Amino acid sequence: MRFASLGSGSRGNATLVSSAGTTLLVDCGFGMREAVKRMQTLHMDPATLAGILVTHEHIDHVRGVFALARRFGLTVYMTVGSWLSLKPDPAIEVVLITPEETWSIGDFDIMPVTVPHDAREPVQYLIQTGVHRLGLLTDLGMVTPHVLKRYRQCDALFIECNHDQRMLANGPYPPSLKRRVSGRLGHLSNRQAAELLQTLGTDRLQRLVASHLSEKNNLPELAFDALRPLLDNDESRLVIAQQGRTVDWQSVS
Ligand SMILES: [Zn+2]
Ligand SMILES: [Zn+2]
Repeated sequence: MRFASLGSGSRGNATLVSSAGTTLLVDCGFGMREAVKRMQTLHMDPATLAGILVTHEHIDHVRGVFALARRFGLTVYMTVGSWLSLKPDPAIEVVLITPEETWSIGDFDIMPVTVPHDAREPVQYLIQTGVHRLGLLTDLGMVTPHVLKRYRQCDALFIECNHDQRMLANGPYPPSLKRRVSGRLGHLSNRQAAELLQTLGTDRLQRLVASHLSEKNNLPELAFDALRPLLDNDESRLVIAQQGRTVDWQSVS
């Protein structure tokens, strides 16, 4: 299996996951035109997508979802809570999913995992083909025992490194927003991501992608420095996703 990022950060997130016969898009926080342009740089034709998985209703994850679905005739998968928040046009084919219940699309088995985040019914996804497992894990305010249990044995992991605690504390956000971001239903800091990896272990990880970095409250270097020691300083396994550009296809074998 392989995966790529169209970009990641507080202003837009979208991830492609592909196997021999199936390609999925997880979220589309970019407008349709921008998303299509970014997919083209990854040699991906949106018409060939097997569907769009939505994690939750925040605009940085859904901005382009319905326009893409309408334009290319794609099925959208989401929880009831996301559906209630988004109220999609009935003309769009939506499949409602149940957290913690695995289902399949083409070559993939997909497990939506419940996470603590300030959305109506947010999930993150474990996506598996035969023996390989990719974990997507952003937009959560804290690491719960449930998350720890689910995200063991990943071969590749997108992990949220939203903010550096010091930059957030000293940064430009108003106090209420600082509390929201660092709160239990907010976003993971670099340090929380590192602690999660410490607990999970990284021996099996072929690729670790630091994602959802805040442009105001984090720096790629800080995320890099926080995670690199967890990989025994093996930088070749570590990628920092950014808002303005794609992460090229990464293979898991
Ligand atoms: Zn987000
Ligand atoms: Zn969110």
